[in-house]
Amino acid sequence: MLCEISSYFGNNFLSTWFILSIIAFVVLMIFSSLIFYYSYVKITYSKWLKKSTPKYPSAENVRMEIILMLKGILAGTFCPSMTLYLMSEKKLKGYCGIDQYGWNYLFLSFFISWLLVDFFEFFYHRMGHTLDLFWNVHKSHHQFYNPSPFSVIAEDYIDQIIGASPLLFIPAIVPINIDLLFFQVRFPIWNFIIDIFLILVCDIFLWLWCLSSLGS
Ligand SMILES: [Zn+2]
Repeated sequence: MLCEISSYFGNNFLSTWFILSIIAFVVLMIFSSLIFYYSYVKITYSKWLKKSTPKYPSAENVRMEIILMLKGILAGTFCPSMTLYLMSEKKLKGYCGIDQYGWNYLFLSFFISWLLVDFFEFFYHRMGHTLDLFWNVHKSHHQFYNPSPFSVIAEDYIDQIIGASPLLFIPAIVPINIDLLFFQVRFPIWNFIIDIFLILVCDIFLWLWCLSSLGS
């Protein structure tokens, strides 16, 4: 899928970066707007009773989230776009399709990269909360104490680029199916769907359970 998008645009880095950003923007806006409309526009008393923060965020706050989300999209699509460009130049070991290495390799690489990517994401996020140097970057993501669905990737561009960097450094080391890797890495769309679910569940439906299980 990604290779087809890249080759359709002549394997041009800027065009691929632009189109991936547009796709991410459209998907994120559709998902977040639908949920925002349901949970923050069509407010009812029974919905409000289940909300963990009694006040709804201001329009300025939501606007800031959307602006930061746009920044996050541009940063988050940088690495995958660079990977596709470098693959077209035969400078990376990433590949598309199945034929080249077969199903067994695909299956094996899926589980190994899954563990590696998950640990990388966990470790990087942990550093963002435990080391001052990284917290100074990561704290902008946590400035929204009363978040709306637009805030899930509203974070610093450094966080987004490093978060998506396995898409660049793994194919630089070993052959890997780039579509498969795409779905494992902290790419905005995938990350968003998981986070939006967590925000909705925690803020609207099961806030009491979330508060007690998170201990906050
Ligand atoms: Zn965090």
